[in-house]
Amino acid sequence: MKKYVYFFGGGAAEGDMTMKNLLGGKGANLAEMAGIGLPVPPGFTVSTEVCDLYYKSRKTIPAGVKAEIEKNLKKLEKAAGQGFGDPKDPLLVSIRSGARASMPGMMDTILNLGLNEKTVAGLIAKTSNPRFAYDCYRRFVQMYGDVVLGLKPVNKDDIDPFEAIIEQKKHEMGIESDTDLSADDLKDLVARFKAAIKNKTGHDFPEDPMKQLWGAIGSVFGSWMNERAIAYRKLYDIPESWGTAVNVQLMVFGNMGRDSGTGVAFTRDAATGADTFYGEYLMNAQGEDVVAGIRTPLPIADLKKDDPKAHAQLEKIRHILEKHYADMMDIEFTIQQGKLYMLQCRVGKRTAFAAIKIAVDMVDEKLISEKEALKRIEPDQLNQLLRPIFDPAEKDAAIKGGRLLAKGLNAGPGAATGRLVFNSVDAEAWAKRGEKVILTRIETSPEDIKGMNAAEGILTARGGMTSHAALVARQMGRVCVAGCSELAIDYGRHVMTVNGKTLKEGDWISIDGTTGQVIEGKIQTKPSEVLQVLIEKSLDPKKAPVYQTFAKVMAWADAHRTLRIRTNADQPDQSANAVAFGAEGIGLCRTEHMFFGEGKIGPMREMILADTLEQRKIALAKLLPLQRKDFAGIFEVMAGRPVTIRTIDPPLHEFLPHEEKDQRALAAEMGISYEKIKERVASLHEFNPMLGFRGCRLGIIYPEITEMQARAVFEAAAATKKKGIDVGPEVMIPLVGHVKELAHQEKLVRQTAEAVMKEQGVTFKYLVGTMIEIPRGAITADEIASVAEFFSFGTNDLTQTTLGVSRDDAGRFLRPYVDKEIYAKDPFEVIDRDGVGQLMRMAVERGRKTRPGIKLGICGEHGGDPSSIEFCHLIGLNYVSCSPFRVPIARLAAARAALLNAPETKTSKAAKSKKAGRKR
Ligand code: PEP
Ligand code: MG
Repeated sequence: MKKYVYFFGGGAAEGDMTMKNLLGGKGANLAEMAGIGLPVPPGFTVSTEVCDLYYKSRKTIPAGVKAEIEKNLKKLEKAAGQGFGDPKDPLLVSIRSGARASMPGMMDTILNLGLNEKTVAGLIAKTSNPRFAYDCYRRFVQMYGDVVLGLKPVNKDDIDPFEAIIEQKKHEMGIESDTDLSADDLKDLVARFKAAIKNKTGHDFPEDPMKQLWGAIGSVFGSWMNERAIAYRKLYDIPESWGTAVNVQLMVFGNMGRDSGTGVAFTRDAATGADTFYGEYLMNAQGEDVVAGIRTPLPIADLKKDDPKAHAQLEKIRHILEKHYADMMDIEFTIQQGKLYMLQCRVGKRTAFAAIKIAVDMVDEKLISEKEALKRIEPDQLNQLLRPIFDPAEKDAAIKGGRLLAKGLNAGPGAATGRLVFNSVDAEAWAKRGEKVILTRIETSPEDIKGMNAAEGILTARGGMTSHAALVARQMGRVCVAGCSELAIDYGRHVMTVNGKTLKEGDWISIDGTTGQVIEGKIQTKPSEVLQVLIEKSLDPKKAPVYQTFAKVMAWADAHRTLRIRTNADQPDQSANAVAFGAEGIGLCRTEHMFFGEGKIGPMREMILADTLEQRKIALAKLLPLQRKDFAGIFEVMAGRPVTIRTIDPPLHEFLPHEEKDQRALAAEMGISYEKIKERVASLHEFNPMLGFRGCRLGIIYPEITEMQARAVFEAAAATKKKGIDVGPEVMIPLVGHVKELAHQEKLVRQTAEAVMKEQGVTFKYLVGTMIEIPRGAITADEIASVAEFFSFGTNDLTQTTLGVSRDDAGRFLRPYVDKEIYAKDPFEVIDRDGVGQLMRMAVERGRKTRPGIKLGICGEHGGDPSSIEFCHLIGLNYVSCSPFRVPIARLAAARAALLNAPETKTSKAAKSKKAGRKR
C-alpha cells in the first residue's frame, strides 16, 4: 500500500532531508533533525501527494489517508504519553504547512489544537496554571477562527476582528498590555471569540478534537491556493503542482512561565554573512510572537543571562547543523520549562551580500567546495552588489541639517529613496504609475507581499531582524529598516509622526538598510563598492571588502565556465566598462546606434535622401571617417579581443524625422524642400517595417553602404594594428535567410578587406559571419555555414519571427499570456526553449555539420538571462553576449550552467545513493 504519512520522534524518523519533494522542506528537516538525535517533539508529516489528492477529491481527505493519519495519531499519543481529547491529560498538537520550497508565512498554521471546554480543564489540572491554559485556548480559538472559519479583516485599513475584541476587553478592564489579562479575562475572551464565530458563520465552534484536526488539515491544504500563496509562487517560480505537506506535531510551550520561551535564529548573520549566531527570542511567549513583530524580541546573546544552559545547547546545535548541512541554517526553537526543543530548521534566506560572503567563507572553512559555493549564488543576486548606495556627503549633510528622523534595525542593506505610502495596495498602485515608494507599515504580514515587491524599500515600526518584513525584504533584495519604534503610524489618516514631526503620504523619505537610519527627504545615491573599484576606479580594491569577495566568486566562475562572455556595446566607454566587468569580446556592435552620435545623423540623412548613386557615395564618404573613428576607439579598448560589428540593420525611415516641424527644420538645414523630405518619408513607409526593407536587404540593394561600413571597420583595424595593438574584427551580416544573401555581402566585405590591407600595407585576421535571426536562416544553417565563419543568434528577431509576435507590439497581450501561463515566462526575456530553442539547436547541429569549427554565439537580449545562458550552454554555443552591466551575472550563470549540468561522476553518484539509503 502506498505510504502517505511519515512519523518522526524519539531519535528516529521514517523520512529524511532528501525527501523534500514528498515531505516538504519542514517535514523533511524535522525528520532529519530527529534522525540525528536533536531534541525534536514527535509528530508526523502528511505528504505533498495528499495535497494533490485533496484537490482531486473535491477538497476532502480520502478515507485511506484518514485511516493512516489516525494510526499515526495513536503512535503520537503513545510517544507523548497523552491522549488526544483526553480530559485529564490532553495531547495538543500544532498543524503547520510545509511546501518543497520555503514560503515564509504564506500558508496557515494552527497551534494548541485539541483544546475544548473539557480538555482545557485537564491542562489546568496538569500545569496548575489556569492563566497559561486559557491563554493557549484563546490563541487556538483565534487562529482556528481566522484560518479555518475565515474571520479576517475585510478592508485594507481594518483591524483583525479578534484583535478588536481583545482591545475592547482591555478597554473595559482599563489595562494596556495583553500580559495584564487574567485567567478569567482570557476565559471570557474565549467565550466572546466563540460568540463572534457563531454570529458570523452560524455554526458553533467545533468541540470535537478530531473534527478540529480534519478542519485544520483541510484548511492547510486549502491555503495552498490562497491569494498570497499564489502571488508568492508566481514571484518565485514555484509550480502549483508541488503542493504542500502538513505537519502534525506535539505542542511544546514557550509560554509556560519565565523559564520558557521561544526564538528564531540563523546560524550566521543573514544580512551581512558574518559568522555570528544571529537571532532573537522572547521569554514566556508562544509561536509566532517573535516573527509577527508584536513584541520586540531580544538578541540571542541575551539568552546567556536568561537561560545559560539552553544558550550553550543552542550554540552546540548551531555548529552541529552547519556541519551536517554544510550551510547557513534558519532555526526555530522553544524552551519549555528549561528544556530546549527544535521546531524547525531549513537553509536560511540571506541577502545577496550574505549569500556571497557565506559561500566564500565556507570554502575557506573547508565546509564546501568552490563548485558548491558557485551553485549557491543565484546570478541575479550579484545585482544587489552592483546597486547604488547613498552618497556619503549628501547623507552627512542631511543628518547635520537635522533630517535624521529615527533609527531602526538594519534589516535589508542598501539605500532607498522614495515617497511614503502606508499600505500595500497603494504601494502597488503608485509604483505602477512610475513613482518610487517606501512602504511604511506598523508591521508587515504575508498579505503585503505584492506591495513589498513594488516598493524601493520597506520601513516598519515593530518587529526584529527576523520579522516578516525583514525576512521577505532580504529575500527580495529590498532595502529594509525594521522595528523603528519611534514611528507612530496612523493608517486611517495616512500620516506618521516621528519625534515631533508629521509626515504624510507622498512625502519623500530615505532609508539606509545598512545602518538602520531613516532620513527625511530625498538623498542622492551613488555607485556601489564594486562599481567604484571597477568602473570609476575611485576606490582601492584593498579597502573594499565587498569587492574582494565579489572578485573571488568571479575568479571561481571563470575557472568553471565553458561559455565565453562577450558584451553588446557600440561605444568605447561602454566597451571599457564591459571589459572591467570581465567581458572577453564584443558580441554585437550595432553600427546604426553610432549614426545617432555627434555629427553623424546629418550625413546619414543626406545618404538616405540622395537620389542618385553619386549623391549617395558623397554622403557615405562623409560617414566613413566618423565610423572609422568609432571603430578605432573600440578596437583600442578591446585590445585584440574579438569584436563583432554588424552592418546596418534597421529600416531607413528610422533615421528620418516624422513630425512636420522636424521635417521642416531638416529641410532648411539641408537646403532642400520640405515636400521632398515628406515625400521620401512617405515612400519609405512600410506596413510591417520589421519584416520589410531592413537587415542585409539594405546592403544588397545599396551595396555601397556595406562597402563603406566594411572599409571603416578594416581601415580602423589597420590603423590600430599600426599602433601596435592587436585587433579581432568580425563582420556580421544581419537578417540572413538565404545563403545567397550572405554570399553577396560576404564577397563585398572580403574584397574590401583585401583592398584595405593592400592599401595600408598591414595584414590582420578577420571573420565574416551572420546572425541567425529568422527561421529560414536556422533551417538552412547547413547551407549558410558554407559561407559563414560564425553564427550569432539574434534571439530578439528569432523570437518575434518564430512566434509571429511583434517585439514592439507584444506588450498588450504578452503579460496576460504569461499570467495565464500560456508562456511560462516572457519569451523576449527568457528563451522559449521548446520553440525558438529547437530552431537554435537545429541551426547549431546543421551549422557544425558543414563547418565543424564554426564559432557560435548569441547576441539577443537573452544573452544576459541566466536560464537562457544555461540553454546556450546546453546546446553547445561558444559564447553569450549581453549588456555590460550584466557581464558578471553572465559569468556566474555560465559557470553554474556548466556545474549544474555536469555529467555525474561515479563517486558522486555512489555517495548520493549511500546517503539516500542511510536511514531506510
Ligand atoms: C536580435 O534580433 O536578437 C538582435 C540582437 O538584433 P536587434 O535587436 O538589433 O534586432
Ligand atoms: Mg535582430
